[in-house]
Amino acid sequence: MAKIEFKNVRHAYPAPSDQAPVYALEQVDQVWEDGGAYALLGPSGCGKTTLLNIISGLLTPSEGAVYFDDEEVTHLPTTERHIAQVFQFPVVYDTMTVYDNLAFPLRNRQVPEDQVRKRVEAIAEMLDLTNSLKNRASGLTADGKQKISLGRGLVRPDVKIIMFDEPLTVIDPHLKWLLRSKLKELHQQLGVTMIYVTHDQTEALTFADKVLVMLEGTIVQVGTPVELFMEPNHTFVGHFIGSPGMNVLPCEVKNGQVSYRSHLLETAHSHKQEMEGKLEIGVRPEFVRFDDAGIPVSIERIEDLGRFKIATVAHEGDVIKLLVPDEVKIPENSPKIMFDPERTHLYCNNWVVK
Ligand code: ADP
Ligand code: MG
Repeated sequence: MAKIEFKNVRHAYPAPSDQAPVYALEQVDQVWEDGGAYALLGPSGCGKTTLLNIISGLLTPSEGAVYFDDEEVTHLPTTERHIAQVFQFPVVYDTMTVYDNLAFPLRNRQVPEDQVRKRVEAIAEMLDLTNSLKNRASGLTADGKQKISLGRGLVRPDVKIIMFDEPLTVIDPHLKWLLRSKLKELHQQLGVTMIYVTHDQTEALTFADKVLVMLEGTIVQVGTPVELFMEPNHTFVGHFIGSPGMNVLPCEVKNGQVSYRSHLLETAHSHKQEMEGKLEIGVRPEFVRFDDAGIPVSIERIEDLGRFKIATVAHEGDVIKLLVPDEVKIPENSPKIMFDPERTHLYCNNWVVK
């Protein structure tokens, strides 16, 4: 098991000689605690794979240092890092049996055959592969092959960190949840530090105890799923997590008083200082309600999702979404809305102001 630490890590891929380097990873200072279940969540191109490859040693960062348990590993080769990395597309030897595929990383390390058998059988059991151990891997479906890839990561007893890079991309949607809960279970059994990369919020939030949200080469927030939901540090976190995402609306702040299109608002924190830049309030659809004392709106659309409805309303050209519990009646005449002050945050240039 290992703790991982990044100090001042930055990475730029080589640029054409006449151009300035573009950083795929801006400054990253981050600790992944020993035995934690982490997700790395962000849109395509934000630097997730770059970050994983720096942990595993496939890439050496252009700047900064990487530590495992306080020992510097920045220049240590991949083979000496005790890491298993599962890639987006399964890496499987088609001509070998499932058993031999799983045994491969162990035989490679000269593990005696009786120990190989024990490990392979245990891992096959965990992944429900026991009945196909004698089959050739070529006959398996994509998800069967990805299970072998996972198994090959898990089989090595020397592994301290297991990293998954969007491992469920090729998996049938209805099997995704099965493998995802399997991974969670394996984390609890093995206690190994796990980092799970995905661009899918559901995958991240169900797998991880802590989620790192990335945007354009930067980690914008690290938190539990509840923290990311309740207190988004950045408007991007508000948008990206939640369904529908957080409402972000223009606002003004004068003498510490926040107003939205001339309606005075209470927010979660008080704001005494002057602020320069783009000012916005963020409030999730869960924390907006119909209230006769509120801001007048027109109703644009109502979607009925069974246990609740999503109402899309408009005010002076702004679109605002509300999550309306099933038992609440949607007003027919002159609807008005209110924001829950405790759950309304002020953002300046996209970052929360506290
Ligand atoms: P993600 O895994 O989040 O989709 P990546 O880490 O693969 O993102 O990529 C981050 C950025 O670095 C992207 O802009 C991508 O185009 C660029 N990039 C990735 N790999 C290379 C490479 N080998 N050479 C040059 N640029 C790269
Ligand atoms: Mg990637």
